[in-house]
Order: sequence, then C-alpha cells, then structure tokens
Amino acid sequence: MSAKEFSIAGGGPVGSLLAIVLARHGYQVDLFEGRPDSRQTNIYQGRSINIALSDRGWHSLDRIGVSPVVKDESIPMFRRAIHGKDGSLTYQPYGKEDQAIWSVSRGRINEHLLDLAEAEPGVQTFFEHKLVDVDFETAAATFQVAGDTEVVIKSDFLFGADGAKSKVRRLAHDLPRFSYSQSYMPQCYIELNIPANADGSHQLEKNALHIWPRKQFMLIALPNPDGTFTCTLFLNHSGEPSFESLIDRKNVAHFFKSEFPDATDLLESPVDTFMAREPAPLFLVHVFPWSFNNKVGLIGDAAHAIVPFYGQGMNCGFEDCAELNALIDENDHNWGSIFPAYENRRKPNADAIAELSKRNFVEMSDLSGDAMFQLRKKIEAKFHEAHPDLWTPLYSMVTFSPEVPYAKALSLGETQNAIMERIMRMPGIENDWQEQKIMDEMYALVVNGFGTEL
Ligand SMILES: Cc1cc2nc3c(=O)[nH]c(=O)nc-3n(C[C@H](O)[C@H](O)[C@H](O)COP(=O)(O)OP(=O)(O)OC[C@H]3O[C@@H](n4cnc5c(N)ncnc54)[C@H](O)[C@@H]3O)c2cc1C
Repeated sequence: MSAKEFSIAGGGPVGSLLAIVLARHGYQVDLFEGRPDSRQTNIYQGRSINIALSDRGWHSLDRIGVSPVVKDESIPMFRRAIHGKDGSLTYQPYGKEDQAIWSVSRGRINEHLLDLAEAEPGVQTFFEHKLVDVDFETAAATFQVAGDTEVVIKSDFLFGADGAKSKVRRLAHDLPRFSYSQSYMPQCYIELNIPANADGSHQLEKNALHIWPRKQFMLIALPNPDGTFTCTLFLNHSGEPSFESLIDRKNVAHFFKSEFPDATDLLESPVDTFMAREPAPLFLVHVFPWSFNNKVGLIGDAAHAIVPFYGQGMNCGFEDCAELNALIDENDHNWGSIFPAYENRRKPNADAIAELSKRNFVEMSDLSGDAMFQLRKKIEAKFHEAHPDLWTPLYSMVTFSPEVPYAKALSLGETQNAIMERIMRMPGIENDWQEQKIMDEMYALVVNGFGTEL
C-alpha cells in the first residue's frame, strides 16, 4: 500500500513542524505556503521580529525530536525590567535563577523548521500557493498560483495551519454544527525599533524583557542578537489615549516623551513610525470542532488564535504538534480515532491559555508596576522555595512546567489566587511578609483550606 498523503495549507512555524511530524510517521506531505519563500526573497528585510519561546515550546520540539538549533541564536530573558514613568527601573525574576524565556527571531525559527521539513524524504514544499477552497468531504483543496490560475490538489487528508485568519477555518463556517466566536481586544499594536550601539551592543540590558506598564497601554521590548530591540506598543483602538485620538505629530511626540521618557531617547523615529503605521488588531478565536469528517483538521493559530500577553501562541501550536505526534502512535495511524482524540485533548488547553493570555494584559500593563503585586510575587516565590511540591506560581506552571497542561494551570491558578487574596489582606503584611507565620498561614490554607496538589 502506498503511503497516505497529507496536504498542509500554511508553511508558518506550526505548518512546517507538522510536516516534519507527519513525514517522520511515513506519510507523504505537500506543504503549501501562500507567500513567497522568505529564504529566497528576504521578505524580512533584515529586520528581526521576535517572540518569546518558553520551556513548553522547546519541550515540544524535543518530544518530536527536532534539534533546537535556533536556541543557540536566541537570547535568554531571566527577568522583567519594569520602567516607571519617572525613569525608575525595577526587576522581577521570571522564575528561579536559571529559568528564562527566550527571545527568538520568528522568521529564523520558521526558516529553520522549513529546512528541516524539506530534509525529510516525504516532504515537498510549494510557495506562492494560496488556499482558496476546500472540499470537506474529500480533503481536496484548491490553491491559487501565479496569476489567477487555480490548481486542485487531492490528498487523503488536509490540515489548515494557515494562521489566525485561517481560510480553511473560515470555509468551515458553512458546515453543520460548527461553533465559532471571535472577539477583539480594546488594544491594537504597532512595532517600533531600538537600534544597537555603534559597537553592536544593546542600549538596554540584554537579558531582560523590558516593560513600560501604563495600565491601559504599555510598551515592551525584546532583545535581538544584532544589538537591536523589537518593541511593541499596545494601545487602545479608541478612547483617550488611543490610536484614534493621537493623530497629530505634536500630541504623539508629547505622548512618547511623557509616558516613556527613557525609551523615547532610544527609539528609532518613534513619532514617524507611529504616524506611518497601520495598527494591527488583537483578537481571539474560539472554534469547535477542529476536524471535519476525519479528513480535514485545524492546527496552531488556525484552531486557536489567542492574544500575545502570555507569549504562548507559538508554544501552544508546537504543543499541538507534539500531542498529535504522540496520538499517531497511540492510535496506530487510525485517523478516525486520531482527529477526535486530538481535538478533545487540545481544545480545553487552548481555551485555558486563551483565557490566561487575556488576563495577563492586566498583569503586564498594570500589576507589574504595582508594589503590592510585586510583594505578592515575592511571597509566592518564598513559599514555592519552601514547598515546591505544594506550590508552583501560575506564571511558572504556564511557562516552565510543560508537564502541567494549560487547563490544570488555569484551575490551580484560581485556587492560588483565592489563597493569595487572603494572605495579602493580613494586617501588616507589607512588613511581616518574611515571617514564619505567613508561611504557616499559607501552608494551612493550601493543605486544609484549598488542597492544591502542586
Ligand atoms: C504581536 C505578537 C506577539 C507574539 N508574541 C509571541 C510570543 O512571545 N510567544 C509565542 O509563543 N507566540 C507569540 N505570538 C504568536 C505567534 O506568532 C503565533 O502563535 C504563531 O506564529 C502561530 O504559528 P502558525 O504557524 O499557527 O501561524 P502563522 O505564524 O500565522 O503562519 C501561518 C502561515 O500560513 C500562511 N497562510 C495564510 N493563509 C494562507 C492560505 N490561504 N494559503 C496558504 N498559506 C496561507 C501564512 O502566510 C503563514 O506563513 C505573537 C503574536 C503576535 C501578533
């Protein structure tokens, strides 16, 4: 019997990794990407756009057996550097001393995974092939190629790995019993740049994720290996201040100078960039099912577009691939079982990280600059140090504990929140927090009152 064939629409990081998974299980894989090949065209124009990859993402690559070569080119960020409006600088470690999240070039990791996919004997890649239609009964897909020519590709199965605005997902809207919701965050974003020093070094501390939290809005900066920082300004679409209200140069210049005084001196033409850029929206998409007729599936952002405030979108997409990798073996290549098992295992976790990511905007933009919140973090870290088997802070569960599913992290986090609200209400907590009685009270609440397992 000849090997079953898969088509994948979308050669982003998740589609490329999926091609590797399927090829290593003996399938023939055709990977179709709508854009030109970035390795030939340099569409990134030398500018690095970076994301934070955490243990969950690296662990998923490891489970699949993909070499994390790009980790050597990535920059560990051990802590948040919080920039106050008065120019003050405070630090919050992400976890234990050696725990970091990693600033990775999104383009580089995509290209690395494409290289690895193409090295697999069963994989063929096709660029400038844009999916425009799907037959959900047969998995046949229509692609638009050069000019307006269309080609129909028949294969046994199809995956839509075509990102947050997935065409495969949009075409599935017409299928019976397909549930769909999309909601916009109030914020949009633009990207800005901090150039390197003349000697190629970084102008801000390199091993930190920098945040300028201003409650309703914030600026963040992630380091690149070339000495630059990619910055993202998250600001409301409308209201005051917003992309809608800041329309003249003078006000924009005043906004930067008054809100981000230390960053304004470092940013490359922030006012020009602000005036020229079309802000990108942030939205969440929830859908179910993620598979149709056991022939067509959704994966990565196509199945679960989330907001970037936990830095988990790509991590979650890599985890989808790692789970699918395991399910192919567990179900002995029976796709009638694999598709339902995949969507039932992943959906609760995708919903949980979507919820956590939405909530984390408040932590990043507001609470990270709040003294009581910082104290709470210190108390949690102290308790974790004393009782690692009883308590792992929520951020660490999501970021550094791939063995804890997102859904479990969300529910344990809610219990922890209730405990910490009680602890933070204890009279004199600001001065007494290092005393044993605080640890004893937390212990009693965990063991008797709430009974968390971690
Ligand atoms: C501002 C921002 C910051 C982020 N920061 C982080 C972070 O710190 N950590 C993290 O883990 N994640 C982060 N993310 C999320 C991360 O970028 C995504 O989760 C990840 O890129 C999803 O990968 P994907 O392959 O599923 O989709 P994509 O990366 O969107 O790739 C989809 C691919 O499909 C192609 N395509 C689209 N339509 C078609 C079509 N019709 N036919 C053929 N091909 C098509 C596209 O060209 C693209 O190459 C961030 C996202 C944003 C917007």
